[in-house]
Amino acid sequence: MAITDKIYVKNHQQLASQLETSFPKSAFSGAAMDVLFRGENLAKLDDATRDRVLDFAEDFMDCDCEANPHCGHPEEKFVRYLLELRESGLGPDAIVDVMGDDYMLYAYPGDVLSFLDDSVRTLEAVETLADVDGRGDVAGEAREKRERLL
Ligand SMILES: [Zn+2]
Repeated sequence: MAITDKIYVKNHQQLASQLETSFPKSAFSGAAMDVLFRGENLAKLDDATRDRVLDFAEDFMDCDCEANPHCGHPEEKFVRYLLELRESGLGPDAIVDVMGDDYMLYAYPGDVLSFLDDSVRTLEAVETLADVDGRGDVAGEAREKRERLL
């Protein structure tokens, strides 16, 4: 399961009651996005929540794909966001706090930790393969990225 399947909407119950509808707790599930970003629903949210939802839309759903928000780009951008937080020196608990402040989302720190470990392992594998292949540039790039995540 991808990390984006384990990102949840904070205050999920409260939001569901403001919207008078139920939706999945997983923020990146198609059904949750369809409910949260429907114009008439946005209007029902309190100001603080609406701001966070709009920030999320602006930061992760700003592509022009016809299938938006189901095109995969929001997930890709969110993964990049998590990696950037790690690169800036944050650990899993702090990353969870920041996503809560920024977008009213939460995840379990253990899931964030596994995601970061997996990312490091993937970069290690890329580095090894590129070395074997004589692609020093690719290997170097993977090494740099990996070191930023440690
Ligand atoms: Zn897209």
